[in-house]
Parts: sequence; structure tokens; C-alpha cells
Amino acid sequence: MTDRYAVIGNPIKHSKSPLIHAAFAAQTKQKLIYERLEAPLDSFIERAAEFLAMGGSGCNVTVPFKEEAFRFANILTERAELAGAVNTLWLDDEGVVGDNTDGAGLVRDLQRHLKLVGLRILLLGAGGAARGVLGPLLAERPAQLVIANRSPDKAIALATQFIQLGPITACSLAELPNQPFDLIINATSASLAGEALPLPTSICQTDGLAYDMMYGKAETPFLQQAKAAGVVRRLDGLGMLVEQAAEAFFLWRGIRPETETVLVKLRAGL
Ligand code: NDP
Repeated sequence: MTDRYAVIGNPIKHSKSPLIHAAFAAQTKQKLIYERLEAPLDSFIERAAEFLAMGGSGCNVTVPFKEEAFRFANILTERAELAGAVNTLWLDDEGVVGDNTDGAGLVRDLQRHLKLVGLRILLLGAGGAARGVLGPLLAERPAQLVIANRSPDKAIALATQFIQLGPITACSLAELPNQPFDLIINATSASLAGEALPLPTSICQTDGLAYDMMYGKAETPFLQQAKAAGVVRRLDGLGMLVEQAAEAFFLWRGIRPETETVLVKLRAGL
């Protein structure tokens, strides 16, 4: 029987995960089916349990169910525990395993362009995406990681939680330190709403890297701000999306797919 996988979310019809996993499967000659499943907002657990009971081998989980997936899993990996959210589930002999591949995906995508060790990193936002990437970012031993959020309490709570893992401090967007950063990552959802952030140009470094987790055909408002401030290297989150999928594919199939060609193809289809 062909192994079945799915991505569960709400809404789900625009998800690119089926395209990505189909490309990985073709490239690695794995026989599998990967589909989109929309779960009602109040029934994620029922939908995921049903999919696995009906023979599904594993699934990805996207907005707004990653915290519910965390509660649904019987066994959590260390990075899922740290992230407090799960985006990849599969069955093993002891039950449903939950992992979070978002942080590994971001780090892998960034590593295509720079080494993170010793860098001064600014992470904007303190929602689910920010929380998911903090552990993997700190594991790369940056010199400094500042987390800044519109609501500073959330940033402070995350810095307090992760302080044992590395040099992390927190502030509000209004209190950003007056210094340039080597890498600025936008993990807010402001770009989704087409909004720019109130950022001083003094945080930008022309030879630094600006990264927006959101992606699209045109540059996001955040990347346009970085461009206006003279930042030459600017990336959106399409690479993170492909890399987090590759990590999930590896967990499920034991084979690491090549990602560059998949990313190029996906970019062309935006
Ligand atoms: P959440 O809703 O959990 O968090 C949203 C964050 O954005 C909060 O910190 C919030 O601040 C901040 N925010 C929202 N609007 C504004 C604004 N106008 N000005 C300043 N700050 C704002 O979202 P997620 O963390 O799940 O997702 C964040 C982004 O990351 C989204 O764009 C999402 O698409 C992207 N993403 C991309 C992935 C990829 O693979 N490329 C994977 C996961 C996420 P406050 O706390 O003050 O409300």
C-alpha cells in the first residue's frame, strides 16, 4: 500500500506543502501520497487522529493548530518541547510522535548564505514562529540575540525561558538598541497585513542580511524597508518553508532530499 501523508490546517487550500513533498518524493523515488486536509477550527485532534487511524503515516500541521498538535502528541522531541508547538507528527510503536522542524528549516536556509556563529541577531516578533526558531538559532552560538516585540511582555517571557541556551535579551520595538545587527529576522505577521514596522535605520547594516519569514511574489514591506536602508542581502521565508518540509521528509522517510531545485521551481510558480 502507498504511504499516505497530509498537511492539516485551516484554511489549507493555498498550502504549498503537497507540491514540495511531491517533488521530494519524485526526486528520491519514494512512493507516497501527500494531501491537504482542512480541519474544522474546533476539531483538529479528531481530524488528525482519524487520518492516522485510517492508515496515514504522518502529517504536517499548520496555522492555527500547532499548539493543539503539541498537546495531541504522546511523545515530543526536545525541540518540540522547547518550541511549545508541533508541525510534524508520525506514528511509531509507542504512539504519536511530535516534532517541530520550523527552526531547523530556518537555520538551514540561513546557512546557505552565512554562518550564524558570532553574529549579532535581531529577531522581531514573539509569536509561535519566533518561539519555534529560538532554540535552533541559539544552538548556532550567535554573539547576541535580541528579541523585540510590539508587546514587550511576550518577548521578555521568551528571553527568560531561553536564557540558559545563550545570550538573549528582550525589548519592545520602541526600545531597540541603537546598534547595527548582522542579521535581522522578521517573525512578526505585520507583512501578512501589508504593514511596515516602526524600525530605525540604525539597526541595519548594509552588508548584513534581512530575512522575512513571510514570502510572496513581491518583496514584503519589511524587506522593502531593509532595501531602503541599504541592506543588499534580503531573503524571504520560501526557503524556510522548503527546508522545514525537507526536515519532515527526512524524519518520515530517512532520506534527505535536495532542496535547491525545489526552491527554484516553487519560486518560479509564485
Ligand atoms: P503569531 O500570530 O503567533 O505572532 C504574530 C507576531 O507578530 C506577534 O509577535 C505580534 O506582536 C506581531 N505582530 C503582528 N502584527 C504586527 C504589527 N502590525 N506590528 C508589529 N508586530 C506585529 O504568528 P506566527 O508567529 O505564527 O507567524 C509569524 C509570521 O511568520 C507570519 O508571517 C507567518 O506567515 C510566518 N511563518 C513562516 C513560516 C515559513 O516556513 N516561512 C513558518 C511559520 C511562520 P504582538 O505580540 O504584539 O501581538
